[in-house]
Amino acid sequence: SKVLLKVDNLKKYFPIRHGMFARHVGDVKAVDDISFELYEGETLGIVGESGCGKSTTGRAIMRLHEPTDGQVTFDGIELTELNSEQMRKVRREIQMVFQDPYASLNPRHTVEKILEEPLIVHGIGNAKERKKKVHEYLEIVGLSSYHAKRYPHQFSGGQRQRIGIARALMTNPKLIIADEPVSALDVSIQAQVLNLMQRLQEDLKLTYIFIAHDLGVVRHISDRVGVMYLGRLVEIAESESLYHEPLHPYTQALLSAVPIPDPQFEREQLLLKGDIPSPSNPPTGCTFHTRCPFAMDKCKQEIPMLQQVKPGHSVACHLYETPQ
Ligand code: SF4
Ligand code: MG
Repeated sequence: SKVLLKVDNLKKYFPIRHGMFARHVGDVKAVDDISFELYEGETLGIVGESGCGKSTTGRAIMRLHEPTDGQVTFDGIELTELNSEQMRKVRREIQMVFQDPYASLNPRHTVEKILEEPLIVHGIGNAKERKKKVHEYLEIVGLSSYHAKRYPHQFSGGQRQRIGIARALMTNPKLIIADEPVSALDVSIQAQVLNLMQRLQEDLKLTYIFIAHDLGVVRHISDRVGVMYLGRLVEIAESESLYHEPLHPYTQALLSAVPIPDPQFEREQLLLKGDIPSPSNPPTGCTFHTRCPFAMDKCKQEIPMLQQVKPGHSVACHLYETPQ
């Protein structure tokens, strides 16, 4: 199917400044040379521990963080070359859903006003049409017109996330970047919101990037999953392949923590040593070598490149490199 989004060698570095003259002493390489494609209608899960750059990747795609380098092509348009007015128009087509809907919803505005705002910003419809659409979308996300005059604090966490989702959908976007949309919710509510998102995807032909910090959450919703570690994509594969035959030692370790109901795929526990290193001073070579049980000398020197090792399954690890 069609490629909706293509990310090439995307980098987002945040400068580290020091001393009274704010001297530039280095960079936090929050996103360091990431490339992937996103197909229309699919869900790509992006998973990694906090600080791995997954949220920054989402924001850099939308240019909420200006990329340091690389290209982002959305629906054939190179986003990094657009001026702010052109970019504003594209944002109608790419919307975000955030982890904490409460923080992203204006507490002094009614739900009706919150949902109408993106329509006003993008000049969509007259007052009557906007109101009709607000009520329609409240119902689409499982709320009702009856909630329109209420304020965010009058809703539960799950309902607030439904409002956050409705707001993202108001402009009829093609792509939704959901940044840990269920992480703050109770497990029972998580399933409801995930089901809603899946239903909306089918009904409205949406494409999703679904960011999460563990592989369990994205398992059922994702067609493909990418795993990030210290700003890099270390593995990307179709879900079936990733969950049943994880290749990267880091993915294997993350999966050890996720219970798998299918006994056919019983795995040995792989435990990681140490903590995640500081992204301001990452290890040389493979940045995972300080925690990897399989690290070799080469791993300390050479950065492994993401390479396809079987159809639809790529990994960045020296263990899988074919001899030249
Ligand atoms: Fe481990 Fe080396 Fe592979 Fe990195 S490249 S994951 S250190 S084996
Ligand atoms: Mg985050």
